Amino acid sequence: MKKSTRVNHPPPVELPPDNRPLVAPIYQTVKFEFDTLEETERYLRGERPGFYYTRGSNPTTRQLEQLLAELQGRDDCLVTASGVAAISHALLALTKKGDHVLCFIETYNPSRYLIRRLLGRFGVAHTLLSIEDLPGIERTLTSQPTRLVYFESPTNPVTRIADIAAITRFARASGALTVMDNTFAGFHQHGGYDVDVFVHSLTKYASGAGDVMGGAVIARAELIRAMRTDFGVLGGTLDPHAAFLIQRGLKTYFLRYKAQAASAARIAAHLAAHPAVARVHYPGLPAHPQHGLAAQQMQDFGTIVTFDLKGGAAAARRCADTLQLFALTSSLGSTESLIVTAQIMAARDLTPEQQRISALTPGTIRLSIGLEDQEDLIEDLDRALAAALG
Ligand SMILES: *Cc1c(COP(=O)(O)O)cnc(C)c1O
Repeated sequence: MKKSTRVNHPPPVELPPDNRPLVAPIYQTVKFEFDTLEETERYLRGERPGFYYTRGSNPTTRQLEQLLAELQGRDDCLVTASGVAAISHALLALTKKGDHVLCFIETYNPSRYLIRRLLGRFGVAHTLLSIEDLPGIERTLTSQPTRLVYFESPTNPVTRIADIAAITRFARASGALTVMDNTFAGFHQHGGYDVDVFVHSLTKYASGAGDVMGGAVIARAELIRAMRTDFGVLGGTLDPHAAFLIQRGLKTYFLRYKAQAASAARIAAHLAAHPAVARVHYPGLPAHPQHGLAAQQMQDFGTIVTFDLKGGAAAARRCADTLQLFALTSSLGSTESLIVTAQIMAARDLTPEQQRISALTPGTIRLSIGLEDQEDLIEDLDRALAAALG
């Protein structure tokens, strides 16, 4: 064998069966081969296990899928290149022309776009309600055949709480599937409810480090099986190296989530007592209008604290520009604390009445609490709130 051939066919290294790596290797390969054409054909007919092409599946991403399914308490999972890829692929895989989707004003903006604009272009109709309008939800589901109910809890950005038991009960009675974006609450929450499909952005708490993107769809085996082919050809597959980083991040997920949620609770209480602040949205605060419902559904109230400044947009600008430890950028769930303002989160597809329901005001600020020392964060916020007072 010439050396130019050898570099393309290096000597294989095989571990003895009783000698395993503690951390699984990254299968950084697009292709897998079988010894014969017959075995390849058997694989492609689904008659034997194995891997063939990473867009379809890969051992590194497969391990992450199995771990996430177990964390969320469902049979199976498909991972994708971002959170919105998980949402768009699930919506496309689960709907067809003529279907109707029930969705909500208090929802992550791109998800509303996907349902209203993108699915709308393919003849899927929708109804947009407030997540708190339970009579409206029941009325819609009993009066109109509905394929999907798509919702979040707590909602992004003002942390409204969906009544998951009621929504899933209405949906089950009417034959609609429920799809829940569980990114804010995390994999360890809401698994006991009768939700058909969970979607998550792995970019947030799963990786934790804010250096990699990913998404996941988690459901019972039959639903994942029905979606798998569409996901493969839609092609928003997670790269094995990203899957490895996310799985590494998950090792500290529980510690991070609990520590960040504890800091968030303390900061929410601190903000609620500050003269510059009109209102704090944090489901763990007894003053949150749905605190009772949140306490029934959740053990941890999350790491997102949203609040309204009395001084409106000008105060929000002074506050955002004064903060030093809070990075002025999108996203959440990383180890650094982050801040975004209403100007950045604005929901331009909503009518003025829907904007009012969304509870976003010009002085609204969303904080994602990181792992910094609580005292340092509070000191930073106090300086910024003093600036907000002007
Ligand atoms: C960030 C986010 C997403 C989208 O995730 P990406 O990984 O950024 O694509 C979806 N839903 C919620 C609630 C989010 O916060």
